Amino acid sequence: MPPAPASPPAAPPTLPGFAHIYSGKVRDLYAPIGADGIPREDALLLVASDRISAFDHVLGPAIPDKGVVLTRLSLWWFEQLADLVPNHIISAEAPAVPESVAGRAVLVRRLPMLPVECVARAYLTGGGLREYAADGHVSGIPLPPGLVDGSRFPAPIFTPSTKAPAGEHDQPMSYAAVEAELGVDLAARVRDLTVAILQRGNEIAAGRGILIADTKVEFGRGSDGELVLADEVLTPDSSRFWPADQWQPGRAQPSFDKEYVRAWLRSPASGWDADSGEALPALPAEVVERTRATYIEAYERLTGLSF
Ligand code: ATP
Ligand code: MG
Repeated sequence: MPPAPASPPAAPPTLPGFAHIYSGKVRDLYAPIGADGIPREDALLLVASDRISAFDHVLGPAIPDKGVVLTRLSLWWFEQLADLVPNHIISAEAPAVPESVAGRAVLVRRLPMLPVECVARAYLTGGGLREYAADGHVSGIPLPPGLVDGSRFPAPIFTPSTKAPAGEHDQPMSYAAVEAELGVDLAARVRDLTVAILQRGNEIAAGRGILIADTKVEFGRGSDGELVLADEVLTPDSSRFWPADQWQPGRAQPSFDKEYVRAWLRSPASGWDADSGEALPALPAEVVERTRATYIEAYERLTGLSF
């Protein structure tokens, strides 16, 4: 019998003093209500739920502690990257963050976001591998012949995609399209910064036995127009983390990230057919538990802290 369909996401929590403005697949966004009783336009409370998404859909059930793991890991990375790029964090503590969402929420500067998902790749896999197999290019960048699943690129590449509206899939975006959207100068800064973030991430992760195959970041613009790193950074939701000691190009790599969930969904065990358009099945308890353990392991390995 096929597994029961995933349950719809829970309603976002009601937070006194905050107005709910939007729920993404994973995070719930609120505006703090100012002393004048009006929701502020300059700040956001970003609450990371335990929801998990794959193939651009929210799955059920939730992964316990995931929101806390992602929030803590992003905060840790923002610090490691602080000399490269300013970030959106105002505070991760009380009183800015209410008790009921402590650990999973941050108060951030509310920024106009660039309409680009900024992806950098250091290794070939996933969507990049599919593009490469078709014509030897990834995101319009010509690459040497003979690369296989898991190959390391000569240097990390920038492979942007569109920020699709809710319910739609992000599409690869050419660099020329990014230039048309942002202008030549800003596009180059965004590209260089995205690659620099992945490079710094890999320098740090290398000492901890992890390869960061690829990652996605989002930038907003600060009041003076400067680029500000927003959203989340170098988490297992936004990146592929591979155990360095098991890296073996030519096959799918073991990983500490969402790939485990994607692999289960594609496997016969899930009973789900990606091409059928049918709802995603619910994750069985052991997949939930293993995903939780995987996310915690990524956090602990990278930060050297115990969860
Ligand atoms: P979608 O918004 O399409 O549902 P998503 O599923 O990735 O995408 P989440 O990650 O759950 O959404 O929610 C985070 C949302 O908050 C994203 O739309 C992101 O662009 C936005 N965001 C993150 N940081 C900021 C910020 N500092 N200012 C404004 N918006 C932000
Ligand atoms: Mg997101």
